[in-house]
Amino acid sequence: MLVKVAISSGRTYLLECEDCPKNPIGYRVLFKGKSGKGSTGIIVGLSEGKAQGRVSSLPDKLPLVNTKALEIAKDLGNYYLDIPWKILWSFIPASFDWYEENFVLLAPRNLKNLDKNSLQVVEYIKKRRKVPYETLLERFDYRLIHLLKDHGIILKKTEWVIPRVEEEVYSLNIPLEEALKRVRSKEKKELIEFINEREKVTKEELLEQGFKSSHINDLLKRGILKREILYPKALSEIPLKQAPPLVKRKKGNEYLSTSFKRALDFLINLVAQNLGGGKNTLVLFPSKEELYRVSDELRNYFGEKVVEISARIKPKELYENWFRAHESGFVFLGSFKSVFLPFSELESVVLFNEQENTKFPANGVDLRRIAYLLSQKYASELIFTSPYPRLESFLLIKKGIFKHRKEDFKANIYIHERKGEVITEETYKFINDRVEERTLFVVVKQGYSYAYCPRCESLAECPECGSLLTFSKEKGEIFCPRVKKHYGSKAFECPSCGGELQEMGFGLERAREVIKDFFSERENFSFTTNPKWFEEYENVVILNADTLLSVPNYRSRERFLNLVLKSLRVAKNSLVIQSALISEEDKSLILNKNFEELFERELKRRKEEFLPPFSRLVVVESEQEIDEFLKEKVSENFFKVYEEFREVYRYMLKFKLGRLPEELKELKGMKNVRIIFD
Ligand SMILES: [Zn+2]
Ligand SMILES: [Zn+2]
Repeated sequence: MLVKVAISSGRTYLLECEDCPKNPIGYRVLFKGKSGKGSTGIIVGLSEGKAQGRVSSLPDKLPLVNTKALEIAKDLGNYYLDIPWKILWSFIPASFDWYEENFVLLAPRNLKNLDKNSLQVVEYIKKRRKVPYETLLERFDYRLIHLLKDHGIILKKTEWVIPRVEEEVYSLNIPLEEALKRVRSKEKKELIEFINEREKVTKEELLEQGFKSSHINDLLKRGILKREILYPKALSEIPLKQAPPLVKRKKGNEYLSTSFKRALDFLINLVAQNLGGGKNTLVLFPSKEELYRVSDELRNYFGEKVVEISARIKPKELYENWFRAHESGFVFLGSFKSVFLPFSELESVVLFNEQENTKFPANGVDLRRIAYLLSQKYASELIFTSPYPRLESFLLIKKGIFKHRKEDFKANIYIHERKGEVITEETYKFINDRVEERTLFVVVKQGYSYAYCPRCESLAECPECGSLLTFSKEKGEIFCPRVKKHYGSKAFECPSCGGELQEMGFGLERAREVIKDFFSERENFSFTTNPKWFEEYENVVILNADTLLSVPNYRSRERFLNLVLKSLRVAKNSLVIQSALISEEDKSLILNKNFEELFERELKRRKEEFLPPFSRLVVVESEQEIDEFLKEKVSENFFKVYEEFREVYRYMLKFKLGRLPEELKELKGMKNVRIIFD
């Protein structure tokens, strides 16, 4: 049998397969690539023609993915102009992508009488037991390595590498200050600071951020970092809670705007009903933190019926969990890497909190789109639950795709006119009257402030991406808030002209400082850049709503409203918004909590201006001008700006909904061109 096999880069091979079952689609195969090294592929089709190699083995008893997953990958490939199989693989947990690597080991023989250089190599390998061949060639003279090999002192061996990156979580093993003192290189310092900020980070996240594997390992060896494996609570020890009596609900697409607690109750009821009928449920979480919380909670009720696909699951368990999808009567919880589970059937697809980031960092694919496609392919009901719908979902509700059930907001809203101060007099009085209550201060910006260059008469920007740079007093540094690797400097100088910078505006650090000055350190006060759905406060204060409203982007108003809605959902008594930029009209709608009208108006404007969700917006960034290409092949209508500082042309193009012109794909292959799907 001749099968078409796709590897993680998206490339396909035609392979001869002797042991393949009758219908081999979706099975994982191991085979030798051109280089002679083994790699993993997924069978995506049958084929005729000339074989480029042969399948060496099938490591699993059942298919890794089913035809529905392949169809969805193709849909996504069309929508995002990407190779479908690359997209497919990007959503498969890394522990399924096995590959073969050449290693070097020491031969079991007498190592005396070696010269100094050879001894160095031997010591290097001895310490590590085995070393990838490539690494050795990079480190030492290749002639020496060949010589040692020819003399039988070292052995070359090919072994399968079964990646275990997902299970590992890194954190600091010693206090931050001490850690920073013990390393010299800037990159390692950045790595330490990054881990310190996040507390627990997986290796995948670190590599995504551009940190080096060798640096991580070095810090680990020196005891500066520690590595641990996160497990969900052991099940056998916990007696199961009785799920509350079923509230019978009719199957159908539903949007639930509510508090975290009610969303959880709803989920428990839904899962109980589906399990009762022996059916599967899939719950997708953009936020890992919420995934872990809900998973732990559901385990209390449904025990082993809860199947989690996440970074904190051991590879062996993850493997078993994955193939459990071939059965029925489970609830599957996961993030992006659970979307291609090979379900035998799927009763309900739930997206839990679309207010968190639904875009997959690796390729910008929107989890909401996948949830929708899954519900189509499996004919499942589609359920979204969030503090409040985002604009796109609001439109779907209007179109009747979701039935909307919403819980009223409890808190009262106050809007305080702000000029430039961190906290207005009005807000000060307001808080002072409730100084004992639990209060959350929301500051959209991290760090201490922006950095202003008087010579350039503008806020300093990141030379890589154009984001406004952040000044952190605590770290004594200015940096790019979007991607740390872009820019970071201890010198308080303008990256553009070298002039001295000044503080401007305020971020979380400064807000904390000012509030502390007014009210002294208080345990009932909290600070955040992004309110968490599962928390609750008596009062929430958005200190600088204008940070969002002042950005010249068509989504600014939407982002502002989302922040208001998220904050309102976690406030029990009152929500205070400090702003100078809210129009009188909007003000009265917000005070009356008439968000539907606010969304209606926003949609009307978007429709008039042919903006998303009524069109698709594509941004093309290019180092050379591509006007002619665009005019000739893609569209006459585009908006172009040259970003002098970054030396990049930015083209904004709007398209009708549906498929984008094929010609855009050509741009993807060009050098120094980047396509961003809004
Ligand atoms: Zn940047
Ligand atoms: Zn300057």
